[in-house]
Amino acid sequence: MSTAARIAVVTGGGRGIGAATAVRLAEDGHTVAVVDRDAEACADVAARIAAAGGRALGIAADVSDHGDVTAAVARIADELGPPVILVNNAGLTRDAPIEELTEDDWDQVMATNLRSAFLVTREVRPHLDRWGRIVNISSMAALGTRNQANYCAAKAGIQGLTKALALELGPEGITVNAVAPGYIATELTATNAANLGVSIDKLQRVVAAQTPLRRVGQPEDIACTVAFLVSEGAGFITGQVIAVSGGLMPG
Ligand code: NAD
Repeated sequence: MSTAARIAVVTGGGRGIGAATAVRLAEDGHTVAVVDRDAEACADVAARIAAAGGRALGIAADVSDHGDVTAAVARIADELGPPVILVNNAGLTRDAPIEELTEDDWDQVMATNLRSAFLVTREVRPHLDRWGRIVNISSMAALGTRNQANYCAAKAGIQGLTKALALELGPEGITVNAVAPGYIATELTATNAANLGVSIDKLQRVVAAQTPLRRVGQPEDIACTVAFLVSEGAGFITGQVIAVSGGLMPG
């Protein structure tokens, strides 16, 4: 897989899938802007990358906030150069059955998972000059999971956004794809287990048993797929949703 060094932005890069993706893109030679609303977490990931000989900048920003996004992308362009790889990864869950789902649960999930991808992509777009890679992190939950109406709608929205932008930006040499992770072992899924009152080990054993590849996913499984999609070699793939779930389908 050949890669030219580029400037990459990873949102929600402070932990979990975003952190693994930031590390992997840096290993592939890219300069990485690690954007997260948790200032300490993104600074830590940037420091880890630098300690391993890579180039990274931690940027504290809430990617659902227009002002924060404008300032973050301006700083990236100023300090690192034009960002041409974008991984829209920031996300969270607020699960509840529909009758208990609050407007705040709905709005927070939409803002963090979907509005953020719109805001950051719009801000990065002027920097894409006849080459660009956008990867949006969706979820297998886009196909429907219980007690996650807000999250499923946002992640299905991500897939629509991906397909619309693939059509719109394709003529400019910009690919836009989505990755749909299955169950990945991160703080997000650990928190979900805690909210359900289930032990994380037990939940992971149950999920692994239902998964054709008989294990849960690791953040690096997603990072690896993103690394491929942003590579030169993936330049004829656009508008696709790649499931990375060990074969697990939601149900
Ligand atoms: P995580 O909770 O471990 O990490 C998410 C990171 O995003 C955190 O560092 C958090 O601070 C940051 N973040 C949240 N809201 C933000 C905001 N408004 N602005 C900036 N940063 C923000 O989560 P994860 O499991 O690594 O998930 C990453 C992405 O993958 C999410 O979009 C999630 O929906 C998706 N996903 C995860 C799984 C899974 O099983 N873990 C499955 C499918 C999809």
